[in-house]
Amino acid sequence: MTRQHSQATRLLTAGRQKTGWVNTPVTRASTYLFDSVEHWRSTRQRREEERLVSYGARGTDSTHALEDALIELEGGHRAQLFPTGHAAIAITLTALLKPGDHVLITDAVYEPVRRFCTDHLQRMGVDYEFYPPDGTGLEQRMRSSTRLIYAECPGSLTYDMMDLPAVAALAKKHDCLLAVDSTWGSGVLYHPLDLGADISILAATKYLGGHSDVMMGAVVCNSTAWPAIQSASIGFGQTVGADDAWLVLRGIRSLHARMAMHQNGVEAVIPWLQSRPEVARVISPALPEHPGHLLWKRDCKGTNGLFSVEFEETFSPDSVESMMDALELFGIGASWGGFESLILPVNLKDARALTAYPYKGSVVRLHIGLEDPADLIADLEHAFRYLKADRQVSVSY
Ligand SMILES: *Cc1c(COP(=O)(O)O)cnc(C)c1O
Repeated sequence: MTRQHSQATRLLTAGRQKTGWVNTPVTRASTYLFDSVEHWRSTRQRREEERLVSYGARGTDSTHALEDALIELEGGHRAQLFPTGHAAIAITLTALLKPGDHVLITDAVYEPVRRFCTDHLQRMGVDYEFYPPDGTGLEQRMRSSTRLIYAECPGSLTYDMMDLPAVAALAKKHDCLLAVDSTWGSGVLYHPLDLGADISILAATKYLGGHSDVMMGAVVCNSTAWPAIQSASIGFGQTVGADDAWLVLRGIRSLHARMAMHQNGVEAVIPWLQSRPEVARVISPALPEHPGHLLWKRDCKGTNGLFSVEFEETFSPDSVESMMDALELFGIGASWGGFESLILPVNLKDARALTAYPYKGSVVRLHIGLEDPADLIADLEHAFRYLKADRQVSVSY
């Protein structure tokens, strides 16, 4: 009898093929040779239903091993890999929507998806509509043509939570699918499929890869959504190289350990920030004052290294930028989920279509990496000297 191990334990062997090696060897391949014409023919007949090797673009031992690990993470029926997280989103939307369909998209969506809507969904004749990131009023926005609810939970930049099981029930009632960008949770902190979603989308570029050295996306979905996802992935020639699949699988082996370290760092840096008079608020669902905190507590297994900070409005955007430039350990760069700390300015006005956020001061997003939190705090402390209260507004502290 095999005992039921925790996910952290299972991830160490997830996807391991019976080769004898601890790690599945990297299979760089295009052509696969069959034993006979009959073997070739029967493989081609069966490969839509079964996961078989037949041609490099249809997967190799390397990509199959990673897919199995992703299914272990998310609990789905099948997984499909994409060259980027963005490609995973774009193909999912393309796969599930046709002219005349209506899709509801969270207003806290990962920014480039907004651009995909105007540049491509519009061209496809798909009617897209944004809804408030906490899911309020979703029911009233449902139409007979609504085929998909697209969520991101917690939402980008402001980490809004929605009651996903309730949204899943709503989707089911209207015979429509629910897709969730779960890059924040990355298979460890949040499990959309367990909460009723049909599709979970992961930017493996972030925590799964974990080392800022690989780009990848993934869709893990249930059997209802799979045929459409599979068909569009094949139709649009989506595949990933074996070396990249190997890198992401290698990242997954330390995913649980890294996530705990990121949370540890956040738990040290946030209280320090909250103690500073320059900081108006820290935005993280793990904080009791966050509007989504109770849902976070109910549905998430912890936090990652991400949060945002609003400065008091007396500090001009220029002085906040000088502070960011003065940081040594926080790099100024896109993405997150790697081992290193990052910081970027956030422009919430351009990142939202509906919601007028109550933020007055400059907002920045931080990613706490695996550095010693004491060093990060010292770095912030030094850089905060560049913050100048030079704006003509009444001081609130
Ligand atoms: C980064 C990110 C993506 C896109 O991933 P890429 O691999 O950079 O294309 C999608 N969704 C979220 C929430 C992300 O943070």
